[in-house]
Amino acid sequence: MGRRCRPASLRKELYHRVLELRGMGLSYREIQRRIFKEFGENLSKSIISGWIRRVHTPYGDGLGYDVWDLRRHRLRPCPELAYAIGAALGDGYTKYEGKYHYAVALAVKDYDFAEEFGRCAAIALGREKPYKPYWDRSKRRWVARAYSRELYELLRKPVDFERIRPYVEHCEKCVATFLRGLADAEGDVDKNENNFGRISIANTDRQLMEYALALLKALGIFARLYKRRKRETENIEGRVVKRERQFIYLLRIYRNSDILRFREVIGFAIKRKQEVLDELHRRTIARRACRPPKPSPPSTLLFPTFHTLTLRK
Ligand SMILES: [Zn+2]
Repeated sequence: MGRRCRPASLRKELYHRVLELRGMGLSYREIQRRIFKEFGENLSKSIISGWIRRVHTPYGDGLGYDVWDLRRHRLRPCPELAYAIGAALGDGYTKYEGKYHYAVALAVKDYDFAEEFGRCAAIALGREKPYKPYWDRSKRRWVARAYSRELYELLRKPVDFERIRPYVEHCEKCVATFLRGLADAEGDVDKNENNFGRISIANTDRQLMEYALALLKALGIFARLYKRRKRETENIEGRVVKRERQFIYLLRIYRNSDILRFREVIGFAIKRKQEVLDELHRRTIARRACRPPKPSPPSTLLFPTFHTLTLRK
């Protein structure tokens, strides 16, 4: 039997149904059967496989076969991937190095940060050995680079947050490690003389900071978002010129209970940051021990609506 070309509208319909069925966890063979049952169309496994792997689509925006980058379809949601995404969005950059080398890189002061990024990116990409950081003399930074076209496309700017969400919001653990990556990149802890502290996360990308704010909230951590003008000084022909060109968005966590919860569920991979956080934690515990504990109110008083709802039922 010769090859028959299905009309475009039908192909699109089949395509979406195939992706849907795959999303439900069906195998190629099961998808084939279901499509035949529902549409009376006999789709070959190679078409199904091509659509699922986005090698081609009825819209003509397929990615083609990846001969060179075998890691391309290996991105799987896991806490390590979420960490790498958070770190890269905060402090990283993407670079096409030519010859099919798609790099997602991090150039940072802390060796343990670069190391953790390399370890997590390798796990996320199904690589046996971690990407080892090296010292870049001109940048005066530790650089860790992960190679994957898929990760590169995911993190290339401008970032499409809708594409990142399934990986970040995969589970609570993934949300937490994403925020840890971001906090390792852009976060800081400081404490004043009274040892009351705060955690700040700063970035110029408003969308990223709003997203982080929402994720913190989902983990039960209250933060505030501020907008500040970022001052830049520039040296033009020997003159120092002050420029105020960009806004910086600042996330701050103030409340003790929120800081403690941040430490409990997120924390830092960078040792020097984690140590300040631990110190803050010790002081808070010591201060609390000096005061008599507050009696906690019964939970029904905290959630009166919930209580009435269950009663009505
Ligand atoms: Zn997860």
